[in-house]
Amino acid sequence: MNDLHREKLNALLKLSHDLGREERDLAILGEGNTSCRLDQETFLVKASGSSLANLQEGQLVACRFADLLPLLDLESMTDAEVEKALLASRVDPTQPKPSVEAVFHAYLLTLPGIDVVGHTHPIAVNSILCAGEAASRRFAEERRFPDEIVCCGAKSVLVPYIDPGIRLAQVIREQVEAFVEKENRPPRIILIQSHGFIACGASTNSVFAATLMAEKTARIFIGAATLGGPTALTPENVARIDSRPDEHYRQRMLKC
Ligand SMILES: [Zn+2]
Repeated sequence: MNDLHREKLNALLKLSHDLGREERDLAILGEGNTSCRLDQETFLVKASGSSLANLQEGQLVACRFADLLPLLDLESMTDAEVEKALLASRVDPTQPKPSVEAVFHAYLLTLPGIDVVGHTHPIAVNSILCAGEAASRRFAEERRFPDEIVCCGAKSVLVPYIDPGIRLAQVIREQVEAFVEKENRPPRIILIQSHGFIACGASTNSVFAATLMAEKTARIFIGAATLGGPTALTPENVARIDSRPDEHYRQRMLKC
């Protein structure tokens, strides 16, 4: 492992531990997974069955993009075939099996400007994503306050509930492609109904910031709902924050 790969591995371990801290309500037990691009050919992803809170170096598995990306185009696969493909994608066959969600990680890491992905099941975000289509869509498409736009982007992708694995990765790709077509940039956040949350970013800091801010926003959304809200910012106000140079400065300062 070269120095750059070592640095990336250490940063990803730190992100995993930060996301897994129980008091943050983002993930418990084996929930969630993280990944980062190592180079053009390979990426690191959390091993199946490991836990974010105490993830060990040996539980970040190096996988080849070229072995996983073709799965996105297959019509159907049995669970045994998926398992075989996951095992075959490892650079070092003595490493553990990568998470079944490695396929959507591989896809998201191919998007421009995205080098790190963090998937969690945050309590407040999931309270909204388990409350049905209308609440989930409002949470994804509206914005409530400026820092939400700074850290989470002006809009999020919403994905319906899909069986985790290859089919979920395929639907995430469909929805992200539709988003990029419309917004001309990749999303910072992807919300999966009745399942969880994905943050994508250029660094571990930006993934952590987007995750914390989304969970805070979800708490505010739920709190405001008890008082007859939440009130969305107007599209003009959202666009204004999104394009202000001082917000970009703040984005850099907040490392998001
Ligand atoms: Zn999940």
